[in-house]
Amino acid sequence: MIYLDNAATTELCEEAREAMRPYLEEDYGNPSSIYLFAQRAKRAVEESRRKLSELMGVSPMELYFTGGGTESDNWALISGIESTGKSHIISSKIEHHAVLRSCAYLEKRGFSVSYLDVDERGRVDPAAVLEAIRDETGLISIMSANNEIGTIEPISEIAEIAGEKGILFHTDAVQAFGQLPLPLGKSRIDLLSASAHKIRGPKGVGLLYMRRGVKLPPYLHGGEQERGRRAGTENVAAIAGFAAAAERAFRTMRERGEKERRMRDYLIRRLTTEIPDCCLNGDPEERLPNNVNVCIRGVEAEPLLLLLDQRGIAASAGSACASGSLDPSHVILALGASREDAYGSLRLSLDERLSREDADRVVSEIKRIADYLRRE
Ligand SMILES: *Cc1c(COP(=O)(O)O)cnc(C)c1O
Repeated sequence: MIYLDNAATTELCEEAREAMRPYLEEDYGNPSSIYLFAQRAKRAVEESRRKLSELMGVSPMELYFTGGGTESDNWALISGIESTGKSHIISSKIEHHAVLRSCAYLEKRGFSVSYLDVDERGRVDPAAVLEAIRDETGLISIMSANNEIGTIEPISEIAEIAGEKGILFHTDAVQAFGQLPLPLGKSRIDLLSASAHKIRGPKGVGLLYMRRGVKLPPYLHGGEQERGRRAGTENVAAIAGFAAAAERAFRTMRERGEKERRMRDYLIRRLTTEIPDCCLNGDPEERLPNNVNVCIRGVEAEPLLLLLDQRGIAASAGSACASGSLDPSHVILALGASREDAYGSLRLSLDERLSREDADRVVSEIKRIADYLRRE
């Protein structure tokens, strides 16, 4: 199989597997217990927090482990706006559903949300953020990089605007984390979400960064775990795996990114020049190193994906949550594309292990299948 769906999830890396093993096997204690045996589990959680904080250039006290990117986003949005006592949120039309549906939930509870437009490359304009700010604005949430089209957002500039106005700023960095340097040291980001399984860590674990001085009320209520802010017995093995995967991701970021960028640009160039009426979605430069997203006019993504699957190629049409439903991607629509084009978008998210031969095979299969589907 050629796996080109790394934006949906990734293969667990060896480092994460090894880091998890003791806590899946002999060290099964509950970190909250008093006896020495359980203290090994507690130490693993705190050691993982320290490792992650060093990689991110923040304090361990600013990190809270969660059950993944979705929980971190829900926590940031729902508890974030509640903590401000204000009633208005600014976000964008291309956020992940974990953000958009948290916003929709808040709208039903009486909050109002401005969903900013993006340009044809998928960029949020910082000037539009400034313009959308009202007296009641309490929270701004703009993703670091988009999961479907790979566009990198100008979050440092947006964070600065939010900071000057004293408005909380959250960024969903699930796709950017471990893939791009984080601007945490340089800019005033208050809240940041990340997830382990997008960086070759285990599923069901993530983190929420809360800048010192920002204190959101708990979202899950129960025990005193995570300094009383996130109840629930810690997923010790997954947390250890997350830290190990992050260590690998940050250590190899530059070299891995260069390899990915080369293959990304190779795929984009061949697909858009060799397939008639095939164009790139997103920004050619301000783009995640591993994201390819193209529209093939007149070719629906669904049959294309099924035929690729039969040839051993795993790809996606936009986000995994959207596929399987008949709705066209909200992200592609926000770029100004027609519904027909939105149905025809294909996402290939690669990793550094994709060889030139496999890339060539992918291109020739897509060409052949697109040609066949167009003649149907
Ligand atoms: C995958 C993803 C999420 C959700 O993370 P989970 O850990 O799967 O819950 C949120 N935002 C973005 C941008 C993502 O790509």
